[in-house]
Amino acid sequence: MPLTHAPIETVEPVDCQAPPSDHLVSCGKCDKTYRQGGVVSEYAGMHSYEECYFAVRRLYCDHCHHIQVWQERIDPVVLEDVLVARAKGHAVDISDFRFTGIVLSGPGYTTGRRAIEAFLTKHPEAAGVSQS
Ligand SMILES: [Zn+2]
Repeated sequence: MPLTHAPIETVEPVDCQAPPSDHLVSCGKCDKTYRQGGVVSEYAGMHSYEECYFAVRRLYCDHCHHIQVWQERIDPVVLEDVLVARAKGHAVDISDFRFTGIVLSGPGYTTGRRAIEAFLTKHPEAAGVSQS
């Protein structure tokens, strides 16, 4: 007989949060989707109001020619590593964190040829990685 019910106290807790598994990011203007690898992400420290770590993330959309910018909550991959590094005054960077998909502010948009050229010159990895 298949098990259809289990008393709640016998159920193992599981992490129900959906992982950012598809690694796709959409342009908020035109909905074109991009691989996460095309997003330029910079560690920005501790958010002053939300009391969590956050990153500033930027995505260039080659379809509608906007740079989308938003602040996203990031969680330490290993909290202790981050706390120890910060206590010692060592730098932490974006690789010490995972993205949560939780947007703290934004997105905002920048357009204009000069702004886009400057962005792509600084971050050539942000160009030419479209998914669809
Ligand atoms: Zn777009």
